[in-house]
Formats: sequence, structure tokens, C-alpha cells
Amino acid sequence: MIHGLQPGGQLTTTTAVDNYPGFPEGIDGPDLMENMRLQAERFGTKFVEGEVTKVDLQERPFRIWLGEDLYRCLSLIISTGASPKLLGLGNEESLYGRGVSVCATCDGFFFRDREVVVVGGGDTAVEEAVFLTRFAKKVTIIHRRDSLRATPVLADRALGNKAISFKWDSAITEIINDEQGVTGIRIKNLKTGKTSELTCDGVFIAIGHLPNTALFVDQLEMDDEGHLLTKNGTETNISGVFAAGDVQDLQFRQAVTAAGTGCMAAIQAERFLDDLPYDPTLSCKKGICKVKG
Ligand code: NAP
Repeated sequence: MIHGLQPGGQLTTTTAVDNYPGFPEGIDGPDLMENMRLQAERFGTKFVEGEVTKVDLQERPFRIWLGEDLYRCLSLIISTGASPKLLGLGNEESLYGRGVSVCATCDGFFFRDREVVVVGGGDTAVEEAVFLTRFAKKVTIIHRRDSLRATPVLADRALGNKAISFKWDSAITEIINDEQGVTGIRIKNLKTGKTSELTCDGVFIAIGHLPNTALFVDQLEMDDEGHLLTKNGTETNISGVFAAGDVQDLQFRQAVTAAGTGCMAAIQAERFLDDLPYDPTLSCKKGICKVKG
């Protein structure tokens, strides 16, 4: 398994995962991922840390580069997940670490007794807002509509939390900052068009994710947002290449569904390898490929 610089992905930046089966009291995301790693190790998985820089799926065996290092494989499971979306405001990225964050569990601690806003109305936004009430003295959710998209159990947790206030029908048009970092935001009410300013020290952006598929452009079929297209479970348009988890799932995006498609991909990869019409370690038949070593 080649994992990136954040092994475990999004689940390592979340707090309680309440809906993963087998944990009646819930489990912290990082603990769940560590358990999965230990379990995979028990079955002989070797872990390689690094960012894949290039892939070539046009020839078999497939080739995968980590900088100068080249890996070759007869079958590949892609589970590169998704990354947080940004608002598209000019100074957003330059203010990372100086008030702008996409991860409350990573950065919330730095906002003790400060005022913060959370943008978004989904599960991530409300979960982050609730988490931030542990540290911040004021948490405001800015949402572009007048109702939350979050699942009822999480939404109720935020709506019933006195430490959280809401700005409905609103969009951030500007993040105001000085040399130290964020000092406030400018908000536009999307129904009235009225603008206002809100003082704050932190802006947590929680407006969803985009799949991490830049590596596979022009090689694998994708939808408009870049999710890999799969059929018959986890098959991509190239036989032997399978996709599992948020990289191919735009509908469910849960830890349990990601694990489920991961299981499907493993079974399908195993069957694919079993059905290969040649011994991959020795030679090539039927002109499918040339495999050395
Ligand atoms: P999401 O469900 O896609 O929600 C994104 C939110 O951000 C929506 O409220 C959306 O507004 C808003 N938004 C999107 N683009 C925006 C923009 N450019 N400007 C302002 N607002 C914008 O994403 P998510 O909350 O990250 O959740 C993703 C998936 O993970 C979901 O399936 C969720 O159930 C799951 N998840 C589960 C848990 C858990 O079970 N503990 C925790 C986190 C996430 P609209 O409502 O108007 O579309």
C-alpha cells in the first residue's frame, strides 16, 4: 500500500465516528484508521509512504512513480479519496495557518477563547462547529441556505448548542486580515443582497470535497467533478484497475461505504489476478504484456 503524507486520510482529521459498525460507543477517526492499519499489517501488507507523482496505466504492468522510484503492478486499487473544497477567495490559501483552516480537529486548539466562523451546512460543518465549541468562545456557522444539509442527528447537535449561532442565506465575500492573520469576514445576505462585517479570528471552511484524481486524467473515465467512473462494483474502464471509496463515490461518502467498496475492490483484484492467462512472474502470453522480475 502506497499511502500519502496523511495516512488514513480524511478520517484522521475527524473526531468521533458514530456510525461505523462494531463500535457501539463510537470511535475516534485516528484510532479507527490505526486499527485498520494494524489489521492490514497482520495480513502482510507492506506500507510505503510517499506522494505518487505519475502513473502510466496504458501498458501492463502498470507503472507508478514516487518521484524517482518506480513501482510496477498487474492490478491496482485506487483509493486516493477526496480533498477539501475552497471558497475561491483571493487570500484564502495564503491565510492557511494564520486563521484559515479546513480541519477543526487539527487547528481548533489554536483558537482557545477566540471567535471563529465555520462555512457550510453539511455534516462536516456542523461536526466541526460542535468540536470548536470546546475551545472557541464564539462559533458562528455561515450557510448559504436557510436549512442545514447535515443528517438530523448531527444537525440537532449544532442547532441545540447554545455556543453556536447561525448566519443563514449568507456567503463570505471577503476574508479580512492584517499581518498577523484573519481579523474578520465580509458577508453577503443572498436573499436581501445586504452586506455586513463580522469580527473573527478563524475561518473554518467545510463546504465539501473534490476527488483526488489529477493523476488519472486522460487515463481513466471520470465524471464532471473528477470522480472515477466504476461499473460492476469497482471496475474502472481499464481492466485490472479498481477504484474504491470517496474517489469514486459522490453519493454516500461514509467510512463504512468506503470500507465496503475497498473490500469489493480487493475481491475483484484478486479474481482479476487469478484469471490472468499467464504467470506474471515468468513470462507473457497472448501478447498482453511483458513482465520482468
Ligand atoms: P456536503 O454534504 O457536500 O456539504 C457541503 C456543504 O457546504 C453544503 O451545505 C453546501 O451547501 C455547502 N457548500 C458547498 N459549496 C459551497 C460554496 N462554494 N460556498 C458555500 N457553501 C458551499 O459535504 P460534507 O459536509 O463534507 O459531507 C460529505 C459527506 O461526508 C456526506 O456524505 C456526509 O454525510 C459525510 N460525513 C459524515 C460524517 C459523520 O457521519 N460523522 C462527518 C462528516 C461528513 P448546500 O447545502 O446549499 O449544498
